Amino acid sequence: MNVLVLNVGSSSLKFQLVRTDQERLTDNTDEKLARGTIERLGGEAVVTLRAGDGPTQTTTATLRDHRAAVEWLIAWLVSGESGVALGGRAEIDAVGHRVVHGGERFTRSVRIDDAVLRGIEETIDLAPLHNPANLRGIRAAIAVLGSGVPQVAVFDTAFHQTLPAHAYLYAIPYQLYRRYRVRRYGFHGTSHRYVAHRWRQLTGTARDATRLVTLHLGNGCSACAIQNGDSIDTSMGFTPLEGLVMGTRSGDVDPTILDYVGGKEGLTLGEAEALLNKQSGLLGISGLTNDMRELLAEEREHRDRRASLAIDIFCYRVRKYVGAYLAAMGGADAIVFAGGIGENAPEIRARICAGLEWMGLAVDPARNDALAGGREGAFHAEGSRLAAWVIPTDEELLIARDTYRAVSGAPARF
Ligand code: ADP
Repeated sequence: MNVLVLNVGSSSLKFQLVRTDQERLTDNTDEKLARGTIERLGGEAVVTLRAGDGPTQTTTATLRDHRAAVEWLIAWLVSGESGVALGGRAEIDAVGHRVVHGGERFTRSVRIDDAVLRGIEETIDLAPLHNPANLRGIRAAIAVLGSGVPQVAVFDTAFHQTLPAHAYLYAIPYQLYRRYRVRRYGFHGTSHRYVAHRWRQLTGTARDATRLVTLHLGNGCSACAIQNGDSIDTSMGFTPLEGLVMGTRSGDVDPTILDYVGGKEGLTLGEAEALLNKQSGLLGISGLTNDMRELLAEEREHRDRRASLAIDIFCYRVRKYVGAYLAAMGGADAIVFAGGIGENAPEIRARICAGLEWMGLAVDPARNDALAGGREGAFHAEGSRLAAWVIPTDEELLIARDTYRAVSGAPARF
């Protein structure tokens, strides 16, 4: 089945065309037929395209809205010049959409119908920036491809709907949960799920025997405790602000800081919150950048004290969460690193794992250093009780596989 995967933002659209089915899923031989991004929608958009493993092409196109972008994209995919081996529109069998928030209603990926569209609309309150853009993408794809092509919604939050109440409830008045559904939702669910599934494939472990701490460390960062194959705790909360230190997000802070700092600096509550989302984290501490690669270079080449501090705070926070999740699950089989930092920065992995020997984790430095640039593998030393892995994440692939499974009626969990 050829699945068009769409990840739509307010002024951008990322896509992949993936060939997948049950056999390819089992053998991990799904094919990426094309991928790309369309940015600055609304005017002269910048389009980056790549067919298969071919060269990346960049072009511009006047695209006034999401529908125009989807129309343009499909025309490109089926055109001879794209180099994508697709005979025509009819060979796009289904569309899989990334949807950020599924609230408590969506606990798995679902085929989109009017009721699902209403459900996503009702969740806008919880994700006012993201869900409206995701909905525009869905409506655009339906308008362009027609209602005969199945569309599937894959939610960032769905994987974490298995959290038990003691993990998802905040210790605030219970009525606030009843009235407004204030609780931990967690995000990056597609990434944590992909990584856990791939780890099971690589190690031959059954789903319900899986106990992992997965770490998605990119610009946004989150940790997840996976027990018996299900998410039982995760570090992002009501919004993606909570938990680990991120590129520009603070992660955990005492909420009274908002009012205190707002008062001192003359900021509204919204401005103070934006400070925690956009001016904090690695950027806020270092005063230099949100980019881990640049911070490592500053530390190495100029011994920049605040760059070091930012990296130390980042690693310390991850280590605390690993400890907490091991306690929550009574141990684990492996810690798995993913995301731009988790996949490419052996030094950060080493700094996070330093001092975890007491819990049975021994790192093999040479194996650790060899894992970067998209390579997957283990980096624990021989005889280590706890395993450590790098597994490059692939959210688009999981969206394509979920879409195939939802359309073909296979059970949602795999
Ligand atoms: P996003 O969450 O936006 O998808 P990524 O997963 O691409 O982001 O992660 C971006 C982060 O990964 C940045 O902080 C970047 O510096 C970091 N990163 C990428 N490559 C390296 C590297 N070789 N060494 C250290 N950090 C890296």
